[in-house]
Amino acid sequence: MGRRIVILGGGESGTGAAVLACREGFDVFVSDSGTIKPSYRKELEELGVEWEEGRHSEEILAGAGELIISPGIPFSAPFVINAKKRGIPVISEIEFASRYTQAVKVGITGSNGKTTTASLLHHMIQKGGMNAGLAGNIGKSFARMVAEKVHEVCIIELSSFQLEGITGFRPDIAVLLNITPDHMDRYDNDLGRYAGAKFMITENQVREDAFVWCGDDAVTAGEINRRNIVARKYSFSIEKKEGQSAYIENGRMIISTPNNTIEMTLEELSLKGRHNIYNSMAAGIAGQLLRIRKEVIRDSLSDFQGIEHRLEPVLRVHGIDFVNDSKATNVNSSWYALESMTRKVVWIAGGIDKGNDYSQLTDLAGDKVRALICLGKDNSRLLDTFRDVVPTVVEAASMEEAVRSAYYLAKNGDTVLLSPACASFDLFENFEDRGRQFKSCVKNL
Ligand code: ADP
Repeated sequence: MGRRIVILGGGESGTGAAVLACREGFDVFVSDSGTIKPSYRKELEELGVEWEEGRHSEEILAGAGELIISPGIPFSAPFVINAKKRGIPVISEIEFASRYTQAVKVGITGSNGKTTTASLLHHMIQKGGMNAGLAGNIGKSFARMVAEKVHEVCIIELSSFQLEGITGFRPDIAVLLNITPDHMDRYDNDLGRYAGAKFMITENQVREDAFVWCGDDAVTAGEINRRNIVARKYSFSIEKKEGQSAYIENGRMIISTPNNTIEMTLEELSLKGRHNIYNSMAAGIAGQLLRIRKEVIRDSLSDFQGIEHRLEPVLRVHGIDFVNDSKATNVNSSWYALESMTRKVVWIAGGIDKGNDYSQLTDLAGDKVRALICLGKDNSRLLDTFRDVVPTVVEAASMEEAVRSAYYLAKNGDTVLLSPACASFDLFENFEDRGRQFKSCVKNL
């Protein structure tokens, strides 16, 4: 293979891949069609990596042995197609990084719950005394982690975009949490194609590997029936017991694999809500497969502190609870957020709609939501769906206005929930910015 590697995208994935590729002695070129953030540009310059921005020039492919693409770039991009035509293999940063580590790899994917489950498992493994790294979709790129430190276990959070570009990546344990419509714009509204990308996580697994999946997820179950999955399968379920490695019986959660069995009550789980029972089960199964001690698994599931922007309690003001679920960027995650609410809700939602079907939320909203505040540039679809479902529906043009209206509309004993069901880029930099603005507006009330 040629020693020249071209990397498309100069963000965390692309720069991480550049760091690793330099360490491995490749001749590296980074190309970004937008602008590269100053911090990444500085890093590339310090590495002595050549780069360009504002375009992908045709001539950079000359002599390239491989093209590494960042998750934001689709395989259908003309430049990528052109590289393939020229016979240059195209891979993701995940694929590249996986070649340079001997660590046990746990890959975690799904439409929702990836960060929560990956962080929970990371907490568990560290508590168990193993040296574990956490990387991937959010936070540090896998390539950067591999370049920086040797780990016994690597937990890699994987989006479907990252999985699309793998050819040989083989996780020892693959976790697929669920498959619900998200990013349907990138998959031409074809759920099968989106599911296909998620199932790439099992593609290179062998019989000794494990595949952990949600037995209550009909889409996943359907795909498993159509495919030949060679890894050992472990499923978890809230609704049934038969054939499951984790299930609920009389208010207790049981996790049982050939390595050991643990039992604990649902009250003992530190993460609340039905979705988090699934996440706890998935992490618990993976923990058992990694031979973490029973007590450590139980303790980790009950003392994990949760993560910012995921059903994060903010403050109680005059009997009104404020909860930040800014990370709920699709309908399914807002469904779980609303489902977990035990009090009347003033719900702040809206943003960029990726082809959302809000009708899935009307029953829950009808039961629990006192008022809906639509916080997006274009709220028409939210307004149309909920006008006749929720007693009060209003619009807000900024987070400050949304929080003030919510405070005004909420009654003592209510919860004000920011769970947008949409992406944030119309009014905010990203979901973190949206969540932080929410928290700061609440603190200023
Ligand atoms: P991801 O990393 O996949 O985007 P997160 O762990 O950050 O997922 O959680 C995002 C949101 O998705 C949470 O705020 C919660 O509302 C919802 N969620 C979390 N876990 C699940 C799950 N297992 N099933 C459905 N929704 C979930």
